Amino acid sequence: MDKTPAPTASKTPRRKHPLKVNVFERLQHHVWQLAPLFPYLDDEALVPATAFFMGHVGFHPGRFSHFNTVEEVALVLAAAGGYVRGASLRVANRTHAVTAPLADPADPEAFAVLVITQRNNAEPSQPEAILFICPQCNKLMARYDYDAKRDSRDLGPVSEFSTVYHSFRTAETFNADLEARTCKHCGHVEPPFPVEEWGWGRYTRHTELVNRARQQLETMSTEVLDEPVPSEPRR
Ligand SMILES: [Zn+2]
Repeated sequence: MDKTPAPTASKTPRRKHPLKVNVFERLQHHVWQLAPLFPYLDDEALVPATAFFMGHVGFHPGRFSHFNTVEEVALVLAAAGGYVRGASLRVANRTHAVTAPLADPADPEAFAVLVITQRNNAEPSQPEAILFICPQCNKLMARYDYDAKRDSRDLGPVSEFSTVYHSFRTAETFNADLEARTCKHCGHVEPPFPVEEWGWGRYTRHTELVNRARQQLETMSTEVLDEPVPSEPRR
């Protein structure tokens, strides 16, 4: 009998210290949608992440659909002027629409505070997809598949939430492709997705830069002190 253990996707297990976050305090410096509350993004991790929408003049949130291999849970902590109610919880379909849940995105009184919890599976692969649906005829305009595990970037010690990175790259690809933004069914031309409103580019750039900065500090430490920066304890 083959007693070789089945391969798993898990990297070296590391201790995860319990952490707690006050969502409302965190939202004071919220700058991108789907911001993980905790730095644990490995296999089998539950990844609660904040989404924070505020109505303002000229706000056009855009809309897309997200497919995930596993269900996601949406907790609405507070909301006004929108399609969701405060203190409510629901499980989203594996393919679910994503937009600002505000009846009038230009209404400065409208807001929504959500915690979206994604789950990383235990497998080496986790397919996801971003889909753009035609607002005129409700048919598929473009679909972009990616693997949140296989296509993730390992930039250094500060890990990246793959869904956010791929949402940014997908929106950029869609925006640059007029053919993709032209509905093959009804001819509607969809304007570019307002990617700046979602803050994903800032998150992507920050993740790249903080890892380069960390590398610089490690190099300097080795050169000056002749010893590497000790590994970072998890709080
Ligand atoms: Zn159409």
